[in-house]
Amino acid sequence: MSLKESPVSDLYLTEFSEPATPIGSLIDWTQFANCKGKTKLFFAPKAERPQARERREAKAKSLCNNCTVQETCKEFARNNHEYGLWGGENEEERHLAGYTIAAPIGVRSRALRTAS
Ligand code: SF4
Repeated sequence: MSLKESPVSDLYLTEFSEPATPIGSLIDWTQFANCKGKTKLFFAPKAERPQARERREAKAKSLCNNCTVQETCKEFARNNHEYGLWGGENEEERHLAGYTIAAPIGVRSRALRTAS
């Protein structure tokens, strides 16, 4: 940003020489989340059984599929290596899409099942 003398007065005008910030990055996309108040649906409780996980995630994904910020949410989780279900995608699905986290729960549980 630099100052520029105004042609019509003694005032100095602010000249913006920096690239504009995309408007989307100034808005808190979470305010449009369809999952407000339903956090429990999006994160696995301790010792959750696979069938219960499928039911919980199906409910969560139905909220995501009707959410206006789904793509932004998914991108955020992928780039920040989040746990839980974000943007209709669970940890295992993010992992398989190439956005690895340290220990995706689905991958761990499948490894345990095949080992036993
Ligand atoms: S896409 Fe799903 S997790 Fe993301 S804000 Fe919307 S409802 Fe919540």
